[in-house]
Amino acid sequence: MILLNPGPVSLSPRVRAALGRANWCHREPEFAELTRGLNRRLSGIHAALAEDYESVLLSGSGTAAVEAMLASFAPDSETTLVLANGVYGERMAAMLAAHGKPHEVLEGPWIAGPDLAAVEALLDRSPAITHLAAVHHETTTGRLTDLGQLGKLCRRRGIQLLLDAVSSFGAEAIEGATWSLKALAATANKCLHGAPGASFVLASHEAWCGPAQRAGSVYLDLRRYHETQRSSGYSPFTQAIPAFFALDEALAELTAAGGWISRQAQYRERVAVVESVLTSLGVTRLLPVEEGSCVLQSYRLPASITYETLHDRLKAAGFVIYAGQGGLAQEVFRLSFMGEIAAADLQRLCTALREVIAGA
Ligand SMILES: *Cc1c(COP(=O)(O)O)cnc(C)c1O
Repeated sequence: MILLNPGPVSLSPRVRAALGRANWCHREPEFAELTRGLNRRLSGIHAALAEDYESVLLSGSGTAAVEAMLASFAPDSETTLVLANGVYGERMAAMLAAHGKPHEVLEGPWIAGPDLAAVEALLDRSPAITHLAAVHHETTTGRLTDLGQLGKLCRRRGIQLLLDAVSSFGAEAIEGATWSLKALAATANKCLHGAPGASFVLASHEAWCGPAQRAGSVYLDLRRYHETQRSSGYSPFTQAIPAFFALDEALAELTAAGGWISRQAQYRERVAVVESVLTSLGVTRLLPVEEGSCVLQSYRLPASITYETLHDRLKAAGFVIYAGQGGLAQEVFRLSFMGEIAAADLQRLCTALREVIAGA
């Protein structure tokens, strides 16, 4: 089965084989060494982060990493402004509420990006806002947030950015100080092509050394992880060891393939191949090309077919696609271009799309 859902992704044979690499104990030095090496490599993937940001690894899905980031770095006595233009922005607001952290939410329509003028107006009105929580790639629609603009605004106003980069890390450009980035959260099993179970948070040296916030959680308190992972590589709790093995191989494959820029180019090629077929079938994108990521696209469902039929027929042909969420559930379908997808599989997908959509 080829997975075209936004994570977990189809694994390469080498990454899948790594899941069964060995019986290791997380309290032994070989695992500590693996953890240290992974953290080093994760902070080196995006050059702008290599010097000034440190990674810690935890076990859990991308949501665990986002929640750990907010629990550990969103302030207790100042306010975090959350930009919510989709499911994942809304989820960050829910996390801050669950952790009892002061926050405001700027909601916007899902098919539009964050309204920068509204952000400025809120910052003018609420001097207590010192942090901004945003989603880099809002997987709900496939929108890539314009962090060039938003980051500049943060820097100019001294606002620290907490970024959900779960579905962009490893495939879209990421800047550090230029965006006033305090921390970002990401996962092994999206653009890095690893297995589910390992996720991580990169934060600046100052963020790790700055005053600790009340994490409101034992398991998600990143400072505990940082203290031991940075010194010795050990983790406070049992890690998802097979997922760490898989990430090790996945990062080796990413490096061998030429890093994140090559991965972005690869995704763009895949999008171009599939989209030429969809266009010929009259299927259109939800968002303009320049507003979308390279990772995932939302397409308007043709009137001739329901999502369920499209999904089931494509699944029978060996491909798992993804539904729209919320109000978009009956309007769009989503295709993600991450993971191991051979050229021949992509051609089979094109054939299946032609048969299913043209035949509907
Ligand atoms: C996938 C994703 C997450 C986390 O989802 P999990 O199911 O917990 O891995 C968070 N944010 C974004 C933008 C995502 O795409």
